[in-house]
Amino acid sequence: MSDQPIIYKTREEIELMRKSAQLVSKTLGLIAEHIEPGVTSLYLDKLAEEYIRDNGGVPGFLGLYDFPNTLCMSPNAQVVHGIPNDTPLQNGDILSVDCGVLMNGFYGDHAYTFEVGEVAPEVSKLLEITKKSLYLGIEQCKAGNRIGDIGYAIQTYTEKHGYGVVKELVGHGLGRIMHEEPQVPNYGRRGRGKLLKNGLVLAIEPMINLGTARIRQLKDGWTILTKDGQPSAHFEHDVAIIDGKPDILSTFDFVDAALAKKKANT
Ligand code: MG
Ligand code: MG
Repeated sequence: MSDQPIIYKTREEIELMRKSAQLVSKTLGLIAEHIEPGVTSLYLDKLAEEYIRDNGGVPGFLGLYDFPNTLCMSPNAQVVHGIPNDTPLQNGDILSVDCGVLMNGFYGDHAYTFEVGEVAPEVSKLLEITKKSLYLGIEQCKAGNRIGDIGYAIQTYTEKHGYGVVKELVGHGLGRIMHEEPQVPNYGRRGRGKLLKNGLVLAIEPMINLGTARIRQLKDGWTILTKDGQPSAHFEHDVAIIDGKPDILSTFDFVDAALAKKKANT
C-alpha cells in the first residue's frame, strides 16, 4: 500500500464518512450495553452485524482480507484482530472491540477497549492512559504538522507510564478503501513524515501493552497477542482535518452513555 497516493476528501465526502463513523460509534454503544461476564464475543458480534445492516450499513471487516466476522474481538493479552468465539467473558477481563462499517461507499473504523465487570486497577489505568493518548495524538492532527507528530505524542505519553507501544501495527488513511495511505504509526519523531493537510482522513489507533511492546501471532493467521501475555489496550477514532483542525468523525458518547446507564442500574 506504500506506493498508493494519499486521497484527500471533499467536505461532502467527509460528511458521508461522518455517517459511517457514527454508525460504528452507535454499534460500539450497543456493545457497551450488552457486554458483561457470561456473554460471548460471538453473541456480541451477531448483535453488531444485525444492528449495522438494520441501519443501512454493511459490516466493513466481514470478508475484508477474508476476515470471518463483523467485529475484531481481542480479549486481555490479544492486541487486535481477535476472532469472535463462544468462550464466555469473565469478570476482570478486558475486551478490545474494533468495528468497521461500509456505508454510502465510505468506511468507518473505530475501536474501544471495554472492562468486563471489575478489572484490576493497573489494567483499568492502562485503558485510561491509552484512551488519553489517542486524544493527544488527535490534537496533533492539524494542517502543517506531520505524521510523526501524532506518533510522537502517543509514544512519549504512554512510554512515560512504562507501557509498550506496538510498532508492527499502525493507524491509516481511511476512505473508500479501509486501509489507505498514509500509515499512522503510534511512535515517531516530531516534524517527521508526511505533511498533514486539509481533507486528510485518518484512523488513529494506539495499541498499547501493559508490559513489553513485543507481539506474536496465533496460528489462526489473525490474532495478535502480546509476547509476554500481559494485557493490551486499543482505542481508535476517525479524524478529518477541516479548516486546518482535527474534526473527530466518530464518538465515544454512545459508549459513555451506555456505561453510565449500566452503572446507575447496579
Ligand atoms: Mg479499527
Ligand atoms: Mg483502523
